[in-house]
Order: sequence, then C-alpha cells, then structure tokens
Amino acid sequence: MLQATKVRLYPTNEQKEFLSGQFGAVRFCFNRSVALKKRFYEKKGISLSIIKELKPLLSIAKKSRKYAWLAQYDSISLQEAVRHADKAFKNFFAKRAKYPKFKSKNGKQSSYHCTSVSVGGNWIKVPKCNPIKAVIHRLILGVVRSITVTKDRVGDYYASVLCETGEKEPEPIKVLKESAIKGIDAGIKVFLTDSDNQEIENPKGLTRHLKALRKLSKAVSRKQKGSHRRKKAVAKLSKFHRKVSRKREDFQHKVSKRMVDESQAVIPESLRIKNMLRNKRISRLIADAAWGNFYIKLAYKCRKAGKLFVPIDTFYPSSKTCPRCLHKFEGLTLARRRWICPHCGQLNQRDYAAALNIKRQGIVQLKAAGHTVLRQ
Ligand SMILES: [Zn+2]
Repeated sequence: MLQATKVRLYPTNEQKEFLSGQFGAVRFCFNRSVALKKRFYEKKGISLSIIKELKPLLSIAKKSRKYAWLAQYDSISLQEAVRHADKAFKNFFAKRAKYPKFKSKNGKQSSYHCTSVSVGGNWIKVPKCNPIKAVIHRLILGVVRSITVTKDRVGDYYASVLCETGEKEPEPIKVLKESAIKGIDAGIKVFLTDSDNQEIENPKGLTRHLKALRKLSKAVSRKQKGSHRRKKAVAKLSKFHRKVSRKREDFQHKVSKRMVDESQAVIPESLRIKNMLRNKRISRLIADAAWGNFYIKLAYKCRKAGKLFVPIDTFYPSSKTCPRCLHKFEGLTLARRRWICPHCGQLNQRDYAAALNIKRQGIVQLKAAGHTVLRQ
C-alpha cells in the first residue's frame, strides 16, 4: 500500500536558491514541451509524440552550451516534467481537461523526484541538493518511493513523501448489505445529502470567506502592475487563499471519513453527469474543485478500507424521479425543494430523493460488476 505524508520544509538560503533553479528547470521543460507541441501542430499539422520525440531531446539539450544549465538538476524530475506535459495534452484530447497552460513563475511550484531520495528524523534528501531540514510529525514507515517538493504561493516549502508500507490493500467487499450502501447527492448550498437523509452543510464561514477572497482579488487588480503595493496585495491574497483551501480540505477529510466509516459502498453521481446537470449560474470553478477533490478522498479512503466507491456514469434524472414508484415528475423546477409525486402521492425531499435514486442505480451497477447485495 502506498502512503503519502506531507511535511513542512525549512531550506537554507542556499537551498532556496537551488530549489528555485530546480523549479525553474522543471517549468522550462514543461513549457518547452507544450510550446513545441503547439507550434508543430499549428504550423505543420503534425501531432508530435511528446514522450517519443521530445523526451530524447533532453539529453541532447543538456550537452549543448545553451541548455547545459539543466544538468545541474535532477534529470528524472525533468523527464517527469516532459511526461507531465504529455499527460496534460492527453487529458485535453480526452476532454478531461482544458488546453494545457504554461506554468508561471508566480504560481505554485513543484518538482518530483524518485531516485536517490531519502528521509531522516528531521530532514529529507532529493538529488543534487544536501539534506533539507524538515518537520516530520508523523512517523514515515516503509520504503520511500518518491518525494515531491513544492513551494506554495505564500512562499512556504513542503514535501509530499510517498512510501510503500509493505502492507497489502484489503480485498474489496464482495457481499454487501443494502442498508450499508450509501447514495450521495453533492450540492452547492448543502454540501451533500445522503440516502440515510443526513444533510451535511458547508462549513460555516466558507461562503463569507469566498466573498472576502473576491474582494482581495479585486484589490490586486486595482494596483499597478509591478508596483510594491500590488506585491503586498498579492501576498495577502495568497495567504487568504491558503487559509480557505486548508479549511475546505479539513472539512472534506472529515466528511469523507464519516461517509466511508458509515458504509460498505459509497455511490455518488460522476462529475461528468454533474456537469451535464449543472445550473449555469453556479460558479463552475468552486464547485468543480470542491467535488473533484472530495471524490478523490472518498475513493482512496474506500480503497484503503476494502470498501467500494462507485460513481454512477449513466444519465439518470435523479432529482425528478420518485424513489417510491419511479414516476418521473417533469414539472420539477430548480427552486422547488420538495414535491408531491402525482402518481403515488409521496412527499419527496428533492436532495434526499436524489440520493435514494443514486443509491438504487449504484446497486444495479454493483450487481452488474458481480457483487452480491443482501436485502438487509
Ligand atoms: Zn411516486
């Protein structure tokens, strides 16, 4: 089983300088790959294979005078940056992501290392740099597979240490109880409603924080580019950004743990379906990031516990269907939180009904995948 641990780093000034060069080299390789691919495609209509045609260029480049500086840095991390660019294009062509953007010096920086990496009681080691001081709260057990060093927008350094613990992942449950299968309907106002009729509200203050964030980012755009005042405003914004995202992370960890603890299988609607059903007025960005990250947490917590995470990917009008008699109520508008089924007379709570329907679809999918679902 792989286990990731995040630690805070305290590089010396000299190490900061090295890391800044390291991040720059990674950025350079990524941006160069994206630019070359784009240029060949737009001018000559040729679709370059980044891995096949661009990766070998790296070692040639390092021998040239112009790019010799790349040799000061971990070569695997540079290859990884090229691979990363390749993946970004693949995701774009598969419609999973937007067109790859160039990485900027001002955003979050990161660099991936997987050879000659090690961790001690209060340090980590990546290639071509002496050990960097680290504060490690949790014991890191197992064989270190990789270390990803990052610098966030506030300017603090972290490392994510990935270890192989040697433990085996539990086998996924084969026979499930119907009562332990949980359908969930993720929303905007209410973060989620599950098929046991539990409603989980968004954390208090998050909406207020989002308003404050908008205000701070407006303050940045009003300041003149390159000015000292703008720099200060950007620093303030970055710090606040981090605070909000930490709060959201913490909340998502708690909720996903609870959902997994309470069930044998967790069934949400896939993000593809959620996108199809989305209300246009809802800020895309916020919802996307929130749901996507939440699903990732649910998925790995399930996997670690031998439980099942089964997003439903077939279109199903989950909020319009009566969970009791399956009548489809076409007249349901977005504003209505409850409705009475014209066919059987049941009073349905919109989100709860959706969660129940999602659960039923999930059971169909589980059975189709060879699981047994007991009626208890
Ligand atoms: Zn009905």
